[in-house]
Amino acid sequence: MHISEFQEMMRRLYFHRDNERGVKGTHEWLVEEVEELREALEEEDKEAIEKEFADVIAWLASLANITGINLEKAALEKYNNKCPKCRCSPCQCTF
Ligand SMILES: [Zn+2]
Repeated sequence: MHISEFQEMMRRLYFHRDNERGVKGTHEWLVEEVEELREALEEEDKEAIEKEFADVIAWLASLANITGINLEKAALEKYNNKCPKCRCSPCQCTF
């Protein structure tokens, strides 16, 4: 499954609710899920980490749907087989 297919699936499942909730509320959910991912990472709970990654990408797709952004297009245009800063692969940027 491609990123765009996942995003389309999320649209079929949740667009009506995401659109009603709006950008601000959906962004707040995304931030909440990123925070839950941090907690799972700190607890080193592999099962919880996996679930939180799923929630983060789901809410990211929801936010992209209601803002009219094609996630796959955006990601691949910016990260097209090389680092967008140094233009190298692998990245040669200094920390
Ligand atoms: Zn780089």
